[in-house]
Amino acid sequence: MGNGNPLPILNEGMGLAPALGPTPRISSLLIKPASAVCNLDCTYCFYLDREADPYKELPARRMTAECLERLVDTFMFYSYPNSVFAFQGGEPTLAGLPFFEKLVQLQQEYGRDGHNVSNALQTNAIVLDHNWAQLFRQYNWLLGVSLDGPEYIHDTYRFNKAGRGTWKRVMQSVELLQKEKVEFNILCVLSQANVEKPGELYSFFKGIGVDNVQFIPLSEFFPDGSLMPFTITAEQYGRFLCEIFDLWWPDRRKMRIRFFDNLAEALAGQKPGACTMHETCDSYVVVEYNGDIYPCDFFVEKEWKLGNIMVDSWVEVARRQRRYNFASKKTLAHPECQVCDWQSICHGGCPKFRHAPHRRFEDLDYFCPAYKMIYAKAVGPLRKEVSKIIGREAPELVRHSISPY
Ligand code: SF4
Ligand code: SF4
Repeated sequence: MGNGNPLPILNEGMGLAPALGPTPRISSLLIKPASAVCNLDCTYCFYLDREADPYKELPARRMTAECLERLVDTFMFYSYPNSVFAFQGGEPTLAGLPFFEKLVQLQQEYGRDGHNVSNALQTNAIVLDHNWAQLFRQYNWLLGVSLDGPEYIHDTYRFNKAGRGTWKRVMQSVELLQKEKVEFNILCVLSQANVEKPGELYSFFKGIGVDNVQFIPLSEFFPDGSLMPFTITAEQYGRFLCEIFDLWWPDRRKMRIRFFDNLAEALAGQKPGACTMHETCDSYVVVEYNGDIYPCDFFVEKEWKLGNIMVDSWVEVARRQRRYNFASKKTLAHPECQVCDWQSICHGGCPKFRHAPHRRFEDLDYFCPAYKMIYAKAVGPLRKEVSKIIGREAPELVRHSISPY
């Protein structure tokens, strides 16, 4: 080494991070077996023709059997006794049913006594049929189905390759999953087509027998930072969440809205399910079709690549300096967050929403005004509800002054 620096390669990003306390474990995987490739052509899709996509020149991207086996073998060993696999795309079902049958077989092969394995899959539901449903039910998979509301709303942006709406086909799949008793939730993208219609959306989902919905706000921008036509404003998102909260409150013991679930978890002092409410961005990693690893689905970019499962161990990947660098983006303290009453549950929002408009992680989260609106409305009643459920006063919200990084 010669220069007295004990870890001279740290600045290159692929070195191991210095000892900053216990190494944060990788608690789950988001696997993209068909990369960002999809069988639909939705107008608002973040993945389509993305400049920064490292694989955009490669049309047919599928995870090989060798890569799948290595993934299951090494991750099940690393994550024992709880191994969490989530599949996403693009469209993950493009990998084909035999790929997922093989996955389950490998999980059985490499699992040990007392091993809990959970599988989830986010899908546009276009190819689902009885055979898929059977696999999901037999092994208790949790599905996320993309559905933006009633037909005229869903078909505003969600088109197939021939430019035709997809609502009818998705609804067939929803009915199939209900009939076959497969557990699923709905992922509803909030765009200009539905953000002003919270009442209509809520009645629609309730009317078709759905009891678990997550709303994902659209935030895509032109290079100059102006809003793409379908992107919603923070004020619209805030109003939407407040109105959905009022609609949901009487149904709160039977209907799940992911944002409110996560808020309740945070108020109970637990780690919420959504990474956007975590202190740092290091709870999961993305595994691309060829085994490349990234810290977040929104940052599958060359500069954030953490390694590859065919050559790196999970322990090494977890300790990569680049992982720490990414994780700490969330802790860049914006002046407004430092004095914010909601800081201990919001933690500055999501770096994707900080970075997206002007490519600066230092900016305030684009949706900050929405968070302030919904926290001001929902934290009080939810805190009382959580206190009732846990049988003691839920912890007070406190401002953190020390970042874990
Ligand atoms: S950038 Fe946002 S989506 Fe990505 S890990 Fe961080 S909080 Fe989660
Ligand atoms: S609500 Fe806004 S100011 Fe407060 S912590 Fe979240 S992003 Fe920061």
